[in-house]
Amino acid sequence: MIKGFTRFLQSPGEHLKSLFGPQDAPAGGPVLRIIPRDEHPVSRQLFSDAALKVLYRLHNAGFEAFLVGGCIRDALLGHMPKDFDVATDATPDEVRDLFRNSRIIGRRFRIVHVRFGREIIEVTTFRGKPNDDHGNHIAQQSDDGMLLRDNVWGNIEEDALRRDFTINALYYNIADFSIHDFADGVRDIDARTLRLIGDPATRYREDPVRMLRAIRFAAKLDFSLAPATEEPLEELSPLLLQVPAARLFDEVLKLFMGGHGVKTFHLLREYGLFAMLFPEADEAFDELPWAEGLIEQALASTDKRVQEERPVTPAFLFAALLWGPVQLRQRAHQQDDMPPVPALQAASQQVVSRQLQHVSIPKRFSLPMRDIWDLQQRLPSRRGKRVFQTRDHPRFRAAYDFLLLREAAGEIEPGLGDWWTAFQQADEHEQRRLLGKVDADPAGTPAPRKRRRRRRRKPRNPADDT
Ligand code: ATP
Ligand code: MG
Repeated sequence: MIKGFTRFLQSPGEHLKSLFGPQDAPAGGPVLRIIPRDEHPVSRQLFSDAALKVLYRLHNAGFEAFLVGGCIRDALLGHMPKDFDVATDATPDEVRDLFRNSRIIGRRFRIVHVRFGREIIEVTTFRGKPNDDHGNHIAQQSDDGMLLRDNVWGNIEEDALRRDFTINALYYNIADFSIHDFADGVRDIDARTLRLIGDPATRYREDPVRMLRAIRFAAKLDFSLAPATEEPLEELSPLLLQVPAARLFDEVLKLFMGGHGVKTFHLLREYGLFAMLFPEADEAFDELPWAEGLIEQALASTDKRVQEERPVTPAFLFAALLWGPVQLRQRAHQQDDMPPVPALQAASQQVVSRQLQHVSIPKRFSLPMRDIWDLQQRLPSRRGKRVFQTRDHPRFRAAYDFLLLREAAGEIEPGLGDWWTAFQQADEHEQRRLLGKVDADPAGTPAPRKRRRRRRRKPRNPADDT
């Protein structure tokens, strides 16, 4: 039986009538509620052709086939589902054999990806309990209770109870279009509550990423956390330090690039989770009054772009997340008499290498991120050729946006951003005028020293003359 599983009696929702009254509930356990097609609003029109194809082919081959997880949750909430997860009693090999366009991926969870053009349908086999009835570990677990591998097949009910939240354990059956609700997920959808299935502390220990998922769904769906789901978060937050950095990178992208970044950031801070992902950034908040605002501004503009379906890049966001610590370290190096440029480079290097121990950042994002930082050093010099070199840098646009962000967050005085805005819009004549203005402006960039130290020339080899 699942410890700490609280059940309330549900009064039938407006659009959903429960088939079982409370008197039918077996004592203590969750009740399966099957909601027939005419009593729920989820229509097949909400599902992609690819998802339906996978469901029907499994069904026609004699297997059970359900849509599960986010797509059913979102459909019940009136949102258009985006990605589709299928659960079945067919093993990964059996699924593989049914679909030529499929492959088995994952070690910790073996799942099958079935590909249709750009769309991928994820097919998982029903999983059983990680422990058998005698508490023996069948799945592999670390000393802290973290699940290392979890490929024990089970039936649909077991599968439901090892999912994370009640609202994610709703299954749509392609055989009769009914919805199977194993953990009172429909009640929680109606009450807009996010509730872990089972004993929350145990479930967080099994997989600390569930703490991040709790925050992500709370922010995205605008749900409140059930008290027992919320309660262990702060205490257990350090468990995130044990999660592989690569997995956390994927999760961080979902947290911050899903269109609800600002709210997610505030919740992560509230429960001490942000400090486990970005420890140095978190420490910088105490010392730099603008550092938190800079991240909020970056997330707000990301949220806006996501809503407008414009592209967003993780490089820009990571640049903002880590700029505070980069500045602190650069300052410290300059106090030790290092010139600004090498000081920034050393600082960037140190911040990145410490960050990678927590959340990995693939090179394709960390290199442009560092370009954005480097350009911050170059944007103030507005003389002669350098201006054009800076403007033509492939990362100029991102660096300019970043400069505006720094001004808006109050890190630096406004002014430089306006100058670059004007310069970009100007014709050649106007550009010359703007450059002249910098020359005449005593507060502008200091003129480069006239006399460069001459390199000693190599003595000429008289033999060269012949
Ligand atoms: P979305 O796709 O909108 O982010 P989702 O709920 O579909 O939300 P996925 O990551 O696609 O999230 O996972 C699909 C389903 O797999 C979830 O709904 C949940 O039932 C289950 N699941 C995913 N991650 C976990 C986890 N860490 N622990 C337990 N169950 C999980
Ligand atoms: Mg999903």
